[in-house]
Amino acid sequence: MPAVYMDHAATTPLDPAVLEAMLPYFTTAYGNASSVHSYGREAREGIDLARQQVAAVLGCQPREIIFTAGGTEADNLAVYGVAENYARSKGKHIITTGLEHHAVGECFEQLAKRGYRVTTLPVDEYGRIDPEEVRRSITSETSLVSIAHGNNEIGTLQPAGEIGRICRELGVFFHLDAVQSTGHLPVKVEELNCDLLSLAAHKFYGPKGVGALYVRQGVRVLPQIHGGAQERGLRAGTENVPGIVGLGAAITLAEREREGRAQREISLRDRLIASILATIPDTRLNGHPRERLPNNVNVSILWVEGESILLALDLKGIAASSGSACTSGSLDPSHVLLGIGLDHATAHGSLRLTLGKDTTEGDIDYLLEVLPPIIQRLRYLSPIWPGHKNRSD
Ligand SMILES: *Cc1c(COP(=O)(O)O)cnc(C)c1O
Repeated sequence: MPAVYMDHAATTPLDPAVLEAMLPYFTTAYGNASSVHSYGREAREGIDLARQQVAAVLGCQPREIIFTAGGTEADNLAVYGVAENYARSKGKHIITTGLEHHAVGECFEQLAKRGYRVTTLPVDEYGRIDPEEVRRSITSETSLVSIAHGNNEIGTLQPAGEIGRICRELGVFFHLDAVQSTGHLPVKVEELNCDLLSLAAHKFYGPKGVGALYVRQGVRVLPQIHGGAQERGLRAGTENVPGIVGLGAAITLAEREREGRAQREISLRDRLIASILATIPDTRLNGHPRERLPNNVNVSILWVEGESILLALDLKGIAASSGSACTSGSLDPSHVLLGIGLDHATAHGSLRLTLGKDTTEGDIDYLLEVLPPIIQRLRYLSPIWPGHKNRSD
């Protein structure tokens, strides 16, 4: 049975070249980067190089990069760090959407409980924000606008550069959660007009548990983890040197291969979408048809449960997702699918297939071979399927 991994939005496999770059920092170059001796200096050099590598891809200064223990921590540092630091000087109004990853969404919920006023921007049927809506929402008390560049569930891309331009014009900080887009699309901070940008290595063939936050020079974030003076006092704790080195190697590699990989993924993605919609009745594409992450397919398949599709695909060796990996396990439908206006039943029957650099035409053929009979069987078993009345058996 083939083994087909189509869950790259949840995480990606570590690139062997990235592992190669990391290995010495587990074995011989194990120093603490704060130590003055040669072991410490060797670790420090590894971190310095990684900081330059990340800065080169983002088009910023190395000192504007803060390493964190992943995308979630980078998001928390951005949202809490700005909201808390500017509460007195600017105000306690913050803006986001209802489609955010929980790493951003939960921070906004906590801040709302602490007396912040939160504006949730409306989105269209594809999950896109109208930049003019951002302009209308900003008041003299707004400190922060935080949105995801590419949505992790439905893949929709936001007009980030335009939103950022409006934020800058009105003197409001703009945080972009670029955890899904980094390594897959251009993420130059000057083109995106962002003040803060989060990324995570494991979403572009780097290691898990390491990420970074870009903080534009002049923007102050209140540290959220206290202790030593690492990361210019903004993120305490002995650095994860192998992880940081892996992040630097992974982002460099991803940037070098980015255009070719994206072109391949887009052609596989579009073939997969078109074939599913054409061969399985009562299906719809979720997210924008063109303004979407190169590797994201998200479809609603009416009358069946997403979880049942996942289990059936798993038995065929295909790894996929329904909703986001973090919410699978709960029976609530995805807040993203509800947020773009789907009813509960349609949201429950969603399937997310996210492709990767090693996905082949053969993988797509195999998926397209096994999926239609799975759906047909599940619909026969579904009490809500209206097709029962047309059955001849
Ligand atoms: C994966 C993801 C995160 C969280 O990153 P972790 O490294 O898993 O903590 C945040 N935002 C988005 C959009 C993501 O896809």
